[in-house]
Amino acid sequence: MSAVNLLDFDLEGLAAFCEKLGEKRFRATQLFRWIHQKGATDFEQMSDLAKSLRGKLQGLATLTPLKVISEHVSSDGTIKWLFDVGGGNAVESVYIPEDDRATLCVSSQAGCAVGCRFCSTGHQGFSRNLTTGEIIAQLWFAEHSLRKRLGTSDRIISNVVMMGMGEPLQNYNALIPALKIMLDDHGYGLSRRRVTVSTSGVVPMIERLKTDCPVALAVSLHAPNDPLRDELVPLNRKYPIAELMAACKDYLQAAPRDFITFEYCMLDGVNDTDEHARQLISLVKGKVPCKFNLIPFNPFPQSGLHRSKHERVLAFARLLADAGIVTTVRKTRGDDIDAACGQLAGEVQDRTNANQRMTRQPIAVQVVRLEVGGGSTTG
Ligand code: SAH
Ligand code: SF4
Repeated sequence: MSAVNLLDFDLEGLAAFCEKLGEKRFRATQLFRWIHQKGATDFEQMSDLAKSLRGKLQGLATLTPLKVISEHVSSDGTIKWLFDVGGGNAVESVYIPEDDRATLCVSSQAGCAVGCRFCSTGHQGFSRNLTTGEIIAQLWFAEHSLRKRLGTSDRIISNVVMMGMGEPLQNYNALIPALKIMLDDHGYGLSRRRVTVSTSGVVPMIERLKTDCPVALAVSLHAPNDPLRDELVPLNRKYPIAELMAACKDYLQAAPRDFITFEYCMLDGVNDTDEHARQLISLVKGKVPCKFNLIPFNPFPQSGLHRSKHERVLAFARLLADAGIVTTVRKTRGDDIDAACGQLAGEVQDRTNANQRMTRQPIAVQVVRLEVGGGSTTG
């Protein structure tokens, strides 16, 4: 039997594993706390576990973290890590500290099969699903390396967003235990409201998530009608907007928040006109309780697309806000594109290049949210 990676188990899974070893459930809880709350890397550190159990674990189990390829720290405190997941693949996580929270943006797949036009991960194609252990190892590493660095035993990361590389709902079976570990009081103890799954709209899996592990939901909408969304988010051909809206509405029955966040990447001349805003309003108003998060497009060379002008984004936001829809604009700062939303490169082969770009300029992600509504902007 090859050794199992204990990072792959939620508490239930670990309890089942311990049971097979003839160990009681509370042993699993102890072990789980050592791993996720204390960041133990080695069974010998687990001083309150019986020597005999530690001995058994040595042969049967590992605690295998991800290998860090690189780390980039920006002047505003944002940190991006590139992790090696083998076979020439790498994934990225981004830590974003703010005044009232600290968010980790986590990847769910190496590459992505959805192939959105405006997304650099989508352009790479799909390599493979991450395991539960590889998803949770991003949080495990970030949380515990930051604690060490900051010399504290207090919790650092308060929010997780599944907005790194990949479509989380196309890696459902690995995602659910990872979410459970994030939420578990013996794990990271995050509240459901502070864990967000972002999806391009895998309708049947939104329905399952509602039952299995309802957390905050963000839906990448990007277009107000099917013909345009078919082009931008090819998954729309399978699950068109009407079905997606119905799934969103239904999800709210179990969701920890009483709204869905719609993400909308602003593409110059493509989806950013007043008419698009009007269509969006009639799509959601009085139908799906929601907030809009407008994301200025982060360009990359092969996309052939351009970022909407700032005034256009504000005018678009104003139209939504005037219709009573809470709208925020995610601000990206600076020109280094590699750490920003949707630009996660993630291929080991790319890293020399990425590193060169990175050293020229610090990372440029900023998550200041500009609330639009009731302000003085005239558009
Ligand atoms: N696959 C999931 C989660 C990862 S993408 C999803 O699509 O929701 C996270 C967010 O970044 C999504 O809203 C996505 O649409 C957005 N995004 C992707 N590429 C982008 C780009 N080049 N510029 C700005 N936002 C982008
Ligand atoms: Fe995949 Fe999300 Fe990128 Fe679309 S935006 S290709 S779903 S990672």
